[in-house]
Amino acid sequence: MPRGSVIVISGPSGAGKGTLVDRLVARVPGLWVSVSATTRPPRPGETNGVEYHFLSREEFAALVGNRGFLEWAEVHGNLYGTLVSAVENKLEEGLDVILEIDPQGALQVVRTMPEAVLLFVTAPLDELERRIRARGTETDEQVRVRMQTALGELPLVEAYNHVVENDDICRATDDLVRIVESLRADKGRS
Ligand code: 5GP
Repeated sequence: MPRGSVIVISGPSGAGKGTLVDRLVARVPGLWVSVSATTRPPRPGETNGVEYHFLSREEFAALVGNRGFLEWAEVHGNLYGTLVSAVENKLEEGLDVILEIDPQGALQVVRTMPEAVLLFVTAPLDELERRIRARGTETDEQVRVRMQTALGELPLVEAYNHVVENDDICRATDDLVRIVESLRADKGRS
C-alpha cells in the first residue's frame, strides 16, 4: 500500500479551519485528522483525546525529551505538538494525514517532510475578529493576542503551497477537495 501524504492546514483564529476540515473529511475518504497534544486547558465541551490530548507542562516536556513530537510550538502562551507515532502509523496505513497546526509547526514539518503539502486558510481581518468574538470563548485580551498573532503570521504565508480564502464556506470546501484530489492524482492515487 502506498504511504499517505501529510497535509498541513494553518490559518488565523476565526478562519474556520475546524469547520473546513470537518467538511473536507466528510467529502473525501482516506483522510485522518491528527489529534495534537496541548498544555492549554480544555474549553467547555472539549473532551480529552477528541479535540486534543490535554497534558501538563511536565508531561509535554517529557514527550519533547523523548522525541515524541513531529513538531511542537508555543502558540498564544500554550504549548501544542503533533504526536509522531500516531502520524507515522496512519501514513503507513496509506491514509493522508491532516495536521491543523500553526505556521511555526508547519515550517518544522517541511524540514523533516519536504513532500508535505501546506495550505493556509484565511479570511478578511475584520471578519476574523467578528468570528472569534461570536464564538464567545475568548476574553478581550485573548482576542487581542489572537489578532496580533494573525498579523504576525502573514509574512509566513509565502512558505505555503496554497492559500484558501474562506469567505464562502462552500467554495472554500470545494477548493480544499480539489487540492487533495489533485495531490492524489499527482501521486497516481486518485
Ligand atoms: P486552539 O487553542 O484555538 O485550539 O488552537 C490555537 C492554535 O494552535 C491554532 O492556530 C492551531 O492551529 C494551533 N495548533 C493546534 N495544534 C497544534 C500542534 O500540534 N502544533 C502546532 N504547532 N500548532 C497547533
